[in-house]
Amino acid sequence: MSLPPVRIIPRSEWGARTPKRRTRIYPANMPTPELWEHHTVGDYRGAAGIRAIQNFHMDGRGWSDIAYNWIIDRRTREIYEGRGPGIMGGHTKGHNTHSHAICITGNFELYQPPDPLLWTIAALVAHGHDQRWWRERKLTGGHRDASGAETLCPGKYLYLAIPRINRYANSEDTTVQQEHVERIERAVAELGYTVTVGDNDLEREALAVENMVEGINNLMAQVADLKARDAQRQGEMDALTARVGAMQGWVQNVGGVLGDVLRDLDIVLPDKTG
Ligand SMILES: [Zn+2]
Repeated sequence: MSLPPVRIIPRSEWGARTPKRRTRIYPANMPTPELWEHHTVGDYRGAAGIRAIQNFHMDGRGWSDIAYNWIIDRRTREIYEGRGPGIMGGHTKGHNTHSHAICITGNFELYQPPDPLLWTIAALVAHGHDQRWWRERKLTGGHRDASGAETLCPGKYLYLAIPRINRYANSEDTTVQQEHVERIERAVAELGYTVTVGDNDLEREALAVENMVEGINNLMAQVADLKARDAQRQGEMDALTARVGAMQGWVQNVGGVLGDVLRDLDIVLPDKTG
């Protein structure tokens, strides 16, 4: 499967009430470093269900608005805009100033989330990352993971699905990554190395291979440089040897001429020791 297209049902379309107030997430915390997953526990269906959650939060709890940034109907997989991006929610105590939250309707202590629902959550996770709403293309965790939380939320079955959701969220660029990896494998093979990159963490491994190729290229450049310098030195040596050879010939020649002159003049050089 691949990530389904993301269509977020705007507040106007599901009949949201005007919030009592809206607090923007401080710009330094955007994109947010955290993204939390929740479940509603109660079973809510469609737009009427989302309105019921909002009424409960605003009137029952006395909050400013529906607590979550987005709510997904587990049956239809429709994505509803809650407070939306960049608005501080009331979902994850102690973390609301620097996080967003996606909530799924239902009680996942009781049943498994179907796979297509996980793909929808993953699509929203990927979309929000592309929109720069949060920093990482993944859920930080379930509500229960947040420091200070004492809750079963988002329910054990949805909680256990988080790694799968995060894997799905990062599956989108697999084709591009695969091409990238194959290109690198070919380049490495040309250098006489064999590298096999597994399916997991393609991006990270591709980067590692890329770094390795860069390292090999650097080494090869250094070797080529050394060879060039070596060749240059050899040339200089040859020239020097040739000059020494010529000089030796010249000295022998001069010695011979000098000997002849001395003989002609009957001059006998004293022995060095004598
Ligand atoms: Zn929760």
